Amino acid sequence: MAKSYLTSQPDEKGFFGKYGGAYIPPQLEEAFKEINEAYDKLSKSYDFINELYNIRKHYQGRPTPVYYAKNMSEYCGGGRIYFKREDLNHTGAHKLNHCMAEALLAKYLGKKKIMAETGAGQHGVALATAAAYFGLECEIHMGEVDIEKEKPNVIRMQILGAKIVPVSHGLKTLKEAVDSCFEAYISQSDTALYAIGSVVGPHPFPKMVRDFQSIVGIEAKEQFAKMTGGQLPDSVVACVGGGSNAMGIFSGFIDDPVKLYGVEPMGKGTKLGENAASLSYGKDGIMHGFNSIMLQTDEGEPAPVYSIASGLDYPSVGPEQAHLKTIGRTIVATADDEETIDAFYKISRLEGIIPALESSHAIAFAMKLARQNPKESILVNLSGRGDKDIDFVVENYPLPS
Ligand SMILES: *Cc1c(COP(=O)(O)O)cnc(C)c1O
Repeated sequence: MAKSYLTSQPDEKGFFGKYGGAYIPPQLEEAFKEINEAYDKLSKSYDFINELYNIRKHYQGRPTPVYYAKNMSEYCGGGRIYFKREDLNHTGAHKLNHCMAEALLAKYLGKKKIMAETGAGQHGVALATAAAYFGLECEIHMGEVDIEKEKPNVIRMQILGAKIVPVSHGLKTLKEAVDSCFEAYISQSDTALYAIGSVVGPHPFPKMVRDFQSIVGIEAKEQFAKMTGGQLPDSVVACVGGGSNAMGIFSGFIDDPVKLYGVEPMGKGTKLGENAASLSYGKDGIMHGFNSIMLQTDEGEPAPVYSIASGLDYPSVGPEQAHLKTIGRTIVATADDEETIDAFYKISRLEGIIPALESSHAIAFAMKLARQNPKESILVNLSGRGDKDIDFVVENYPLPS
């Protein structure tokens, strides 16, 4: 029997085709080897799998439902739109799926601390939650500009007991926070685990985070089949920042005849600096320990990027997303700010669900797809809820009448 896609990718060095790998300083080689070997064992361990299953069921609130968005579908004119409700996860997004698993891994490794960078604070809050649950210390590196901008998430992390390390060099945002966290990790790797926040970073994180997120696709496939008398959706749609919520839902359908759309933020326009559409406009390059497709300047440095959704605001993308695009298994789509805000308000009014601005990109594209394909069924990963975004939206985009 042919091997399934997920068991055959990545190779043992962490490459998905030419993308991925582990480009790390020699001082960290030992630490990543330890993580890799531990994950190899634990991913087959009954105890680990069973403990994670129980956490997901009793603490996180899984399985999250699949919901047929009837009002939205009728509004668009026929194509049937379904939502996988990751916004109903504890802490309000898919991120807890990998954070709980990473913290469980840290516990099995006997670590005392989990650490990470955060941009908008979403990964920081999810990780601080996991740390509290397992009684681990938590250290979050965050740019000073982001600390100022994302006050409520900073306060959440502090209430949950995390220590915030402000980063004051360079642009004082996400990229500098990653650099700072890597540096701090070098001297602490025997007692701490670096818990990366998406399907990015050096091997084994792109594989590991994908596997931890694959529960989304496994559940969704079964739920969708139950609702439709055994069918598959025609299309699956997810937004792509680093690519973890997309890999999560894609995982369930990757060996099936289902179109997989990754939606990137087109922001204000197509010029460098106006968007964060790495797969659409990027070039091959190495950053933050892995080879992928990234937006870069003429000098080959990571380019400044922009997105209305801070969770999508990253100049690169997970190596598996780069690979799947290159081999033609996924289709890269985009939604700009205006379409995203329109989708944000529409689904709030039509369905009573306020989505995260990240997820609103996927919904905006799904609405287009439904209009163009009235016979299709479209499953969207609604990656998170929009409570965090409401102040920003109403201050900048007037309420529709
Ligand atoms: C962080 C975040 C994303 C983007 O990250 P991916 O790794 O691409 O999934 C998308 N949606 C929400 C709600 C997020 O918090």
